[in-house]
Amino acid sequence: MPIQSIDPTTGQQLQDFSPIDDAALEAAIASAASAVAPWTARPIAERAAQLRAVAARLRERRGELARTITQEMGKLIGEAESEIEKCALVCDYYADEGERLLADIPIDSDASRSYLAHQPLGVLLAVMPWNFPFWQVFRCAAPALMAGNTLLLKHASNVPRCALAIEAVFRESGLPDGGFKTLLIESGRVEQVLADPRVRGVSLTGSEAAGRQVAATAGRYLKKSLLELGGSDACVILEDADLDEAVKTALRSRFINAGQSCIAAKRIIPVRAIADDLVARLREAVQGLQPGDPLAPHTTLAPMAREDLRDELHQQVQDSLAAGAELLIGGQPLDRSGWFYEPTLLDKVGPGMPAYEEELFGPVAVVIRAEDEADALRIANDSRFGLGGSVWTRDQARGERFARAMACGAAFVNGLVKSDPRLPFGGIKDSGYGRELGAPGIQEFLNAKTLWIG
Ligand code: NDP
Repeated sequence: MPIQSIDPTTGQQLQDFSPIDDAALEAAIASAASAVAPWTARPIAERAAQLRAVAARLRERRGELARTITQEMGKLIGEAESEIEKCALVCDYYADEGERLLADIPIDSDASRSYLAHQPLGVLLAVMPWNFPFWQVFRCAAPALMAGNTLLLKHASNVPRCALAIEAVFRESGLPDGGFKTLLIESGRVEQVLADPRVRGVSLTGSEAAGRQVAATAGRYLKKSLLELGGSDACVILEDADLDEAVKTALRSRFINAGQSCIAAKRIIPVRAIADDLVARLREAVQGLQPGDPLAPHTTLAPMAREDLRDELHQQVQDSLAAGAELLIGGQPLDRSGWFYEPTLLDKVGPGMPAYEEELFGPVAVVIRAEDEADALRIANDSRFGLGGSVWTRDQARGERFARAMACGAAFVNGLVKSDPRLPFGGIKDSGYGRELGAPGIQEFLNAKTLWIG
C-alpha cells in the first residue's frame, strides 16, 4: 500500500510520501540503538520529567494535532481532541508511577541479598494502526520510554502525517535524538527491522493477519512480541438492566470512531424478556445519528477511514443479510463523496453469519438474541476473539459473577468498555497476547533481572 494521506471525508489525496531508503532506515536504527545507554543511565526522575514535557507539548498543540487526525483518518474532531488528551494522561501516568513500577523487588534466597531489577530491553519496534493514530502509539511509547527503551514507529500507511506529527511532539519536548523515530516504510520491510540484532522486541496493534505475520517473524528472530488484535466484544443485557443506560452506552461503544474500535460493543446480546424493547430503543437511537463533516460540531457519525475498509464492511453486511439476518436500518454506503456508511442495525444475527463470526469494523450494530442469562453467556463466549466484554444488570453481584465468567481480557459491569492508563488492557484467544497499560504494560518490555549477591 502506498504511503498516502487521503481525506476520508472527501476522498481527496492530501499528500503522497516516499518511503525512506535503506540508508535512512539504517541511520534510524543506529540512532535508536545508540540512544539506549544514555537514556537508561538517566535517573528515573529525569525520564519522568521528560514524559511530563511530552504531555505538556501534546496539550499545547491539542487543537492542531486533533485536526491532523480528523483530516487524515476521519474521526469526529471532538473525539480527536479527547484522544490527544488521553495521550497526555498516559504520559502523566507513567511519569507518576515509573519510580514505583521500576523499583527493585527484594527476594529471600540463599544469597546474602537477592532481588529483581527492572532493566530495559533496548530498541523496540511499534507497528501501529490508523484507528486511534495517536493513542495506540502513546500507550506503547509512554511505558517503553519510562522503562529506558527507545522506540521505532512503523505506522499504518494511511496516517503518515500523524506519524510525523508524533515524532515532532517527542522532538519538540526535548526527548534525546534517537529516543523516538518514525520510519516511513511499507509493511513488507518490517521483517528487515525485526531481523536487525539491535531491535529487541515488537508491539503490534492491528488485524489478525498482520499479527500472525509479525509474530511469526518475531519468532524467527527470537524477539519479544506483544499483539493487540481485533475483538468482537459482547455487550450482554439482562432482564433487570437499566435499559436507558445500557442503550446509551451500547450506542456510544458501537459507533464511536465510526465503529472502528477494537473494543466496540460488536455483539449486543439481550435476553428474551427485554429483547423487543431493547431493539426498539436501539433502533430509535441509531436512527438519530447524523453522518457528516467530522470537523462540524453537530456531526455524530464520521466517515470510515478507507474506501477498502468500507467496501469490506458492506460485503460483511450483505453476506449476513443473505444468511438470514434482519436489516432494521441502513445497510448501504452513503450516496455522497467520502467513505461514509449508513448507521446500520442488524437483528436476529446467528452462527455462520459474518456479523456473528467476524469483526465488523464500522458503524453496524449487531443484535444476537439470547434466551436467558446462561444462553447469553454461552453466546458471549462463542467467539474466536476475547478482548473486552460488558454485562448490564441492576444486581451488581450477578453482574460480577457474569463478568468473571466471560472469556476476555477485560470485563465491565454496567459500564463502557474503555482503556484507561491505570487499567491493564489486552486480549486472549485470537485477540492477541500480552498487556498494555497499568503495571503489566511497563513489564512487557523489561528484563526482569535476578541479582544474587553472595
Ligand atoms: P492492518 O493490521 O493491516 O494494519 C495495522 C498495522 O500493521 C499497519 O501499520 C500495517 O501497515 C501493519 N501491517 C499490516 N500487515 C503487515 C505485515 N504483514 N507485516 C508487518 N506489518 C503489517 O490493519 P488494516 O488497516 O488493514 O485494517 C484491517 C482490519 O484490521 C480492520 O478492518 C479491523 O478489523 C482490524 N484492525 C483492528 C484494529 C484494532 O485496534 N484491533 C486496528 C486496525 C485494524 P500498512 O498500513 O503499511 O499495511
